[in-house]
Amino acid sequence: MARYCESVCRLCRRENQKLFLKGDRCYSDKCSFERRGYPPGQHGQGRIKFSEYGLQLREKQKVKRIYGLVEKQFRLTFERAERMKGVTGNNLIGLLERRLDNVAYRLGFANSRTEARQLVRHRHFLVNGKPVNVPSFTVKKGDVIEVREKSKKVTRIQGALEGLKRREVPQWLESDAATFRGKIRDLPARDDVSAPMEERLIVELYSK
Ligand code: SF4
Repeated sequence: MARYCESVCRLCRRENQKLFLKGDRCYSDKCSFERRGYPPGQHGQGRIKFSEYGLQLREKQKVKRIYGLVEKQFRLTFERAERMKGVTGNNLIGLLERRLDNVAYRLGFANSRTEARQLVRHRHFLVNGKPVNVPSFTVKKGDVIEVREKSKKVTRIQGALEGLKRREVPQWLESDAATFRGKIRDLPARDDVSAPMEERLIVELYSK
């Protein structure tokens, strides 16, 4: 599968906002965006004026990068959101939030979504008692996510749970660091996702 291998901090600078892709570093003064909060490249510090298409494209790229998806995965998620009842933009954000890698990150079992994806692939988590190693697995209301018994000693998971104090667990999730367990209380509502995203622009882009 295609993977982005360049500096991820460049992505925050390109999207002109912190995307929190690097765990602890994002909350420290080592954050590149804090030091150089302008787009990368020779003309990064110049004035950039976006066309309507440019704005839509940037929004799509930003959301795709926040969740760490490549174009094909993102497009498929959008098509799935389109087929669902309700508002496509809200459905899209809901589906992205319900990905297992995102849920593991939100519950505090990983410092970033990238780390969560790797931990999922390495079968460190159980969903309703069964091991799941598919990062795109969509969780549903009532599902219980837990760290496998033998994985509770993994330093990265323990460190991430320590770092959870800096982040808030969203209301639709319930996390218990002491038992390494989390539960899906409810499906995420649009208001539960605080990151600034204008999904309307993505819908407009893909509707062209
Ligand atoms: Fe973005 Fe985090 Fe890098 Fe800062 S440290 S630029 S928030 S990925």
